[in-house]
Amino acid sequence: MNILVLSPHTDDGEYGCGGSIARFVSEGKDVFYVAFSAAEKSVPSEYPQDILRSEVKEATSVLGIKEKNLILLDYAVREFPDNRQSILDDILSLKKEFKPDMVLLPSTCDTHQDHQVIVQEGFRAFKDATMIGYEVPRNNLDFPTNVFVTLNKEQLRLKLKSVECYRSQMGHPASSMEFYECLARVRGTQVGVEYAEVFEAIRWVMK
Ligand SMILES: [Zn+2]
Repeated sequence: MNILVLSPHTDDGEYGCGGSIARFVSEGKDVFYVAFSAAEKSVPSEYPQDILRSEVKEATSVLGIKEKNLILLDYAVREFPDNRQSILDDILSLKKEFKPDMVLLPSTCDTHQDHQVIVQEGFRAFKDATMIGYEVPRNNLDFPTNVFVTLNKEQLRLKLKSVECYRSQMGHPASSMEFYECLARVRGTQVGVEYAEVFEAIRWVMK
């Protein structure tokens, strides 16, 4: 089974679905991770502008993603709406290359302009695949909690370790390990286990 994670900016995939990535890798699934921007213009001034490029390499390798399965594109943060067609063309090429059975992408409730472009163009490109939208609490107006992926302790540990790799983002409360541990506990409690991540079912295709 091929799984493709579409991450608008380098950290979104780890924050939104890092535990599920660790679980899928441990189950022998092939996971591909594409980040569309290393958000150079948003990096705090005390860090090198390209720091997110090295942080994403470290964070995805912690989750078990092979180096060759990590693709870093070069769109400017907050300018995805102006590059919509080119982003769709890139997604269509990725589809041809990886032939994913399941795509993890931002949810349809995400209000960040770059995230909205990825979910809209992602839907256009992958109408024939299962698509689930990951949770980004600080961006979401609302969130249908209708797909749960349960996590064991080790999978949560790997997610938190990958979150910790983003040292340049640590100043934000929604980028802390504590925040993601609490969220995993809340989502786990909803389905009677210790930890889970939750997703919006955008499309479910049983082949
Ligand atoms: Zn983002």
